[in-house]
Amino acid sequence: KDPKAAAQAASDMRNIVRRKLTGYVGFANLPNQWHRKSVRKGFNFNVMVVGESGLGKSTLVNTLFNTSLYPPKERSPPSAEIMPKTVSIQSISADIEENGVRLRLTVVDTPGFGDFVNNDASWGPIIENIEQRFDAYLDAENKVNRMNIVDNRIHACVYFIQPTGHSLKPLDVEVMRRLHTKVNLIPVIAKADTLTDEEIMAFKQRILADIQYHNIQIFEGPRYELDDDETIAENNEIMSKVPFAVVGANSDVQTPDGRKVRGRRYPWGVIEVDNEEHCDFVKLRQMLIRTHMEELKENTNNTLYENYRSDKLTAMGVAQDPSVFKEVNPAVKQEEERSLHEQKLQKMELEMKMVFQSKVAEKESKLKQSEEELYARHKEMKDQLERQRADLEEKKARIESGRPLEEKGKRKGFSLR
Ligand code: GDP
Repeated sequence: KDPKAAAQAASDMRNIVRRKLTGYVGFANLPNQWHRKSVRKGFNFNVMVVGESGLGKSTLVNTLFNTSLYPPKERSPPSAEIMPKTVSIQSISADIEENGVRLRLTVVDTPGFGDFVNNDASWGPIIENIEQRFDAYLDAENKVNRMNIVDNRIHACVYFIQPTGHSLKPLDVEVMRRLHTKVNLIPVIAKADTLTDEEIMAFKQRILADIQYHNIQIFEGPRYELDDDETIAENNEIMSKVPFAVVGANSDVQTPDGRKVRGRRYPWGVIEVDNEEHCDFVKLRQMLIRTHMEELKENTNNTLYENYRSDKLTAMGVAQDPSVFKEVNPAVKQEEERSLHEQKLQKMELEMKMVFQSKVAEKESKLKQSEEELYARHKEMKDQLERQRADLEEKKARIESGRPLEEKGKRKGFSLR
């Protein structure tokens, strides 16, 4: 946008000369350096699962990461005392390792969501949790030492849609509308084995239409600019399956042809989790873990967190602006300012008085000293004069009575001359 910057960039581009290297320099090794460093540091990934209980969230997480991250849930019969009143937030972390690459996986579950008679505001604790994670990151960034910040922000939110075959429920729309600016939303149709292929196709169409109608932004994968054709095709293939119709299963079952697969067995056959013909589980896993994990993290950092951060900081900046306090009575405010000003004046006056007094005292003591000196000198001079006068007096008396003195002198045989 800045014409100067654009001109500079254009001139830089002109100055780039393409050269063929004559020997091995070594920067081709950069990706390897990057690779080694990343592997050493390890990766972290935080995923949130939102959906009514019983939609198979824990089963799917276990299936995705091939671990029993979630122990089997014990569903006790409902009783008034133990029934929670609000949606709670539970987070489970696990360090998993594959071929020497470590991944710290955190799954944030939202038990209780959609379980109440009145589900208004059941998204409250969820949004709160997401924002708290942003706030913690913002705080960490503002600390003096901001190296090694632990990133606990939610990188992906898998939203489970009940396999009704109709369309999105009002609760789904409400929650998605509130979530989409804060997390990468990935909608999935839960327990897709309960719908036929045709039902899934039609359901997907209606869900997408609803999402578009309500202007909900779901995660769309990477921007294409720098990608090669193969990556673009792969991404399109994944995106064409959204919302993913998924099936979760933690145990192996035997297929009629004797293979052992992860899946669910029914009287009429076996549904294989890892078979793309049967469901979109493979595509969801590919997107979340194999191809788009970095993209999800980048988008969280560069877009979602950045928007949250700038909104928050702007809000804080505005709040510091005194013009915002419009509710404050101007007369009260004026009175406050006046008394503050008066206090300031009084303080200044007191200080000036003290300075004045100390100066006066100093001057007085100096004056006293010089007065004493003057007195002393005066006395000395007076004494001196007195002595001179007495001398003169004596001389005068002597002169006046010169003759007798002369006579006396003569008589004694000497003269004054
Ligand atoms: P959560 O409350 O959303 O975490 O749900 P769970 O993972 O505890 O699953 C609830 C029940 O649904 C369990 O009996 C699972 O065996 C079952 N279940 C999980 N995934 C699927 C699925 O894809 N299809 C079917 N038909 N059942 C599933």
